[in-house]
Amino acid sequence: MNTSSESQKKTQEPSSVCRGKNYAYRVGNGIYINLTNRCTNDCTFCIRHNGDGAYGSETLWLEKEPTVSEAFDAVCELYFPECREFVFCGYGEPMMRADTLLKVASLLKERFSLPIRINTNGQAPLICGEDVSPRMEGLIDCVSISLNTPSAEEYVRICKPVYGKKAFEAMLAFASACKAHVPNVLLTVVDEALSKYELAMCHALADRLGVKLRVRTYIG
Ligand code: SF4
Repeated sequence: MNTSSESQKKTQEPSSVCRGKNYAYRVGNGIYINLTNRCTNDCTFCIRHNGDGAYGSETLWLEKEPTVSEAFDAVCELYFPECREFVFCGYGEPMMRADTLLKVASLLKERFSLPIRINTNGQAPLICGEDVSPRMEGLIDCVSISLNTPSAEEYVRICKPVYGKKAFEAMLAFASACKAHVPNVLLTVVDEALSKYELAMCHALADRLGVKLRVRTYIG
């Protein structure tokens, strides 16, 4: 993948007005990094449909996407002694900017030696056009992938990926590939959104892939 590809990917563009320059925001003892508002999904349950921020933050709609140094500087400005983790998260899909993300991660590792997580829809193989997981080695400590459902058909219905059904298989392939390079690989689902049967299917899927399943509550 090259840097120029970062601006050429297919996306579901948010319709909201762009304001603010919130490249980083604090959540508990972590600093979350907001590299983009672009995403290859348009999930029916996306937090972005319900407001402008997350976890009580200011607006996370970006006037422009941050450069490597702008994102790094934003984290440094926000850094506090109790900070225990850096998280590449929304407001959008962070792997839309995989090159930038990995460069920022490298700078953060060098400066702070703290764990780094990516919260992602897992479609990196399609977004980047290659297996980027080897490039995460030594930089990324946790990849948390939104599984949402055990069914590819249901995934298409609720997440509306631009890649269609291929997105689901790509996500599973990404989870599997990350195992060799990232210490902690998680699939996540929202408890209230699934039946007991679907939840059991998600557990079975995670077991088959050899990754953990994290069942969480909805943050909306
Ligand atoms: S993948 Fe995440 S950011 Fe993208 S639409 Fe779904 S919930 Fe929103």
